Amino acid sequence: QDINLEIFAQNMIDTFQMKYPDYVIELEIIGLNTFSTDPVLLNSIFHNLIENAYKYASAGEKKLKIKIYRLKKEVAFSFKDRGIGIEASELDNIFKKFYRIQSRYNQQGSVGLGLAFCKELVNFMNGKITVKSKIGKGSEFEVILPYDK
Ligand code: ATP
Ligand code: MG
Repeated sequence: QDINLEIFAQNMIDTFQMKYPDYVIELEIIGLNTFSTDPVLLNSIFHNLIENAYKYASAGEKKLKIKIYRLKKEVAFSFKDRGIGIEASELDNIFKKFYRIQSRYNQQGSVGLGLAFCKELVNFMNGKITVKSKIGKGSEFEVILPYDK
């Protein structure tokens, strides 16, 4: 199904800003307008990554930049926050089922399934998900999906 990325992403952003009025989300789309995919799956990926960026934001700064851009045969979806960050040693673990970082006590309502589920969905869609992060600086999750047209 062809989805209009601008409308799709803006809808997600509006929903989150209704839920969390202090959440600042920026959107940039470069080099494409539509993308053929299952919107339910893409919605689920966006939902988990946008929710995480808010949950693991630094005190006071609840900010996320979403960038969608064309690669040669793929589309990249980048979610870059300025949150608390993730230790290098935890970067592989966070994609495991039920994994939550031990040292973080204030994780109410947190199950540790969001990223494991994202990874399953992205694999199912023949894509990949990566993360770069620095403690105290923030994290960037990137989902790369094939663009077939
Ligand atoms: P759930 O998503 O099931 O409600 P969760 O958010 O704890 O629970 P995941 O989304 O799988 O689970 O994330 C795993 C862990 O990775 C989190 O517990 C958190 O410690 C860390 N994490 C995830 N996203 C971020 C982020 N944007 N910034 C910092 N840490 C993160
Ligand atoms: Mg989560």
